[in-house]
Amino acid sequence: MTKIGIIGAGPSGLLLALYLLQHSGRFPCRVAVTVFEREENHFRQERSNPDRSYTIDITGHGLRAIRSLGGNLESRFDKELIPFRGIHSYTINKTLPYSEKGWTGSRGDICSSLLNELEASLTDLDAAVEVLLHWNSEVTSVDPNSGELIWQREHDAADHRESFDLIVGADGGGSMLRRQLEAQGRLTTHKKSIPNYSRILHLDKNVPNKVLEPTLLHSFSLEPWAVGGAILDVESSQRDIEQADTAKKLYVQMGYTNYRPYEDVASAAGTIESIRIARHDTAHRVDERSVDLRHYVSDSELLSFAERPVYHTGKTVKCSSLCAGRAVLLGDAATAFPPVGQGVNAALEGASVLGETLLEELLRAESGADLGACVQRYSDRWLPEANACADIANTVVYGSTLSRSKLLLQGALSELSGIDFAAAQLAKDSRYTYLEALRISRIRNAWAIGIVMALATILLVAFF
Ligand SMILES: Cc1cc2nc3c(=O)[nH]c(=O)nc-3n(C[C@H](O)[C@H](O)[C@H](O)COP(=O)(O)OP(=O)(O)OC[C@H]3O[C@@H](n4cnc5c(N)ncnc54)[C@H](O)[C@@H]3O)c2cc1C
Repeated sequence: MTKIGIIGAGPSGLLLALYLLQHSGRFPCRVAVTVFEREENHFRQERSNPDRSYTIDITGHGLRAIRSLGGNLESRFDKELIPFRGIHSYTINKTLPYSEKGWTGSRGDICSSLLNELEASLTDLDAAVEVLLHWNSEVTSVDPNSGELIWQREHDAADHRESFDLIVGADGGGSMLRRQLEAQGRLTTHKKSIPNYSRILHLDKNVPNKVLEPTLLHSFSLEPWAVGGAILDVESSQRDIEQADTAKKLYVQMGYTNYRPYEDVASAAGTIESIRIARHDTAHRVDERSVDLRHYVSDSELLSFAERPVYHTGKTVKCSSLCAGRAVLLGDAATAFPPVGQGVNAALEGASVLGETLLEELLRAESGADLGACVQRYSDRWLPEANACADIANTVVYGSTLSRSKLLLQGALSELSGIDFAAAQLAKDSRYTYLEALRISRIRNAWAIGIVMALATILLVAFF
């Protein structure tokens, strides 16, 4: 029996458990997976938190991970999450369609759907893989050499100890396991910070769902940064939902360059009113009259928005290795980076890569799998990808004229040529790895700069 402990039931921890469970028939030995989550069961948590929820899109890399499980999760996402059809840019008044399959929703929507699928897959009692979920259970310490893990239940100060062959830290950006491994000198981290801060705005007036298409991400403005999208408007306990029949809520992630709170409600209103957008009618045709975003914000939401906390979302943490002894890092715990539409996608793909590497090792080893060598292979395979994704995420800096001009120029060149130039856009394409997306973007941008300079030189020579 191989025992695997997973710390964290976020997207990466749940997908790994699901990967192992759904490939159960291929495992040559029994595998016992225990998931420890310090928060409440997803079915009892609020699906969204107006202070920090915004729309997450699952695209290329996430799609690849979901397909690595077989068809069940994909069908569930089709039913329970909102389809993603592209980005509408109000700066150029154009919809940039997304041709592959994708979905959007809040982290709560995504985790609830993953958990629904996990529970549906747990019905085969003879399966080689068993999964046990401990909610309200915080892991406080891990010994990467012995594989012993210490955890505590909520309202119970007692330490519980359990040993595992492998401990997976899927415990998010502030990972306890990563900090512990770093403190023990088992790995080093490289931290970087850009001035990207976020505050959430809820568009709650004038029925925005009927006017602002929920299957699109809405890039309202680059300065101030304002990108919105839909999540499902459901009660925390609602499990069996059909997204098509479910009301949607629209949240906007507003980007700032500092933590500073608004001095008063009028300043907050000023920011929202500075964003003018062309209005769409209910058939999504552009209406010539334009409105500002305040048109979609009630007075009470404006008050809440003005007082809402601002989060520093510009932090990047890269690790020198993703494993040490019997411990391995996954998702945001492995590599954390600013939101650029890839946090959940990279978390899901990393989990499928780890699941696949574990399966290969257990299939290869007739007796006594070498899980240490196995997680080293995962680290060698996934770390360069995760680091490339972090580099892509650092290409978007709110409030930077250079970053904004670059995004606008890349958008214009894409419109003219029909090919993507921005690394963040190429990262949504399932044909490319993150390393390829970064490399292609650098090559195309270098060519574009070269062509523009050559044209400028020809013009100068022709006229003077
Ligand atoms: C509450 C929350 C809301 C978010 N909302 C958005 C969003 O709207 N849009 C977006 O793009 N990104 C959002 N993110 C970030 C994005 O979701 C992440 O990139 C993605 O979720 C990474 O998945 P993960 O599984 O690696 O980590 P996480 O989603 O962070 O999950 C880690 C899990 O581990 C649990 N955990 C942590 N420490 C312990 C411990 N010691 N013991 C037991 N359990 C532990 C946490 O409670 C959490 O459930 C959010 C993250 C969080 C935590």
